[in-house]
Amino acid sequence: MTLATPETAFTFLREKGFRLTKGRRAVVNLLLGDDSPLSVNEVLERLKKRGTNINRVTAYRELAFLEEMGLVESVQFEDGMRRYARAGGHRHHLICTSCKTVEAVELPHDLDVMEKRIRQQTDFTIDRHELEFYGRCRKCA
Ligand SMILES: [Zn+2]
Ligand SMILES: [Zn+2]
Repeated sequence: MTLATPETAFTFLREKGFRLTKGRRAVVNLLLGDDSPLSVNEVLERLKKRGTNINRVTAYRELAFLEEMGLVESVQFEDGMRRYARAGGHRHHLICTSCKTVEAVELPHDLDVMEKRIRQQTDFTIDRHELEFYGRCRKCA
């Protein structure tokens, strides 16, 4: 499946006969809206800010369901915390070592030039890459 958006995910789930509950919709909208990986706590907090209250058990169940459906994938970070993000999304992460938030970042030309150079130097065929930048976010700087 190509990178899912909330809309394509809803269509996909509906076609498979799954119900789109309010909680499910909210989690899909949150996680498939961009590539920032969120912990369960962050999912709960952000949904609350958006006016949707779901409990922790429901959140875990929805995340497991969406992971099983291949829409979301979980990533374990250095701090040992599991975070959830859009499956197949780009993994360029800004990781705040102070408040532990993880934010996705887009690079205009990505690593095209670097990958080309690596390929020429090593004959290694690169399928994908991940980048992690550690530091302090704007709130903690
Ligand atoms: Zn921070
Ligand atoms: Zn990249």
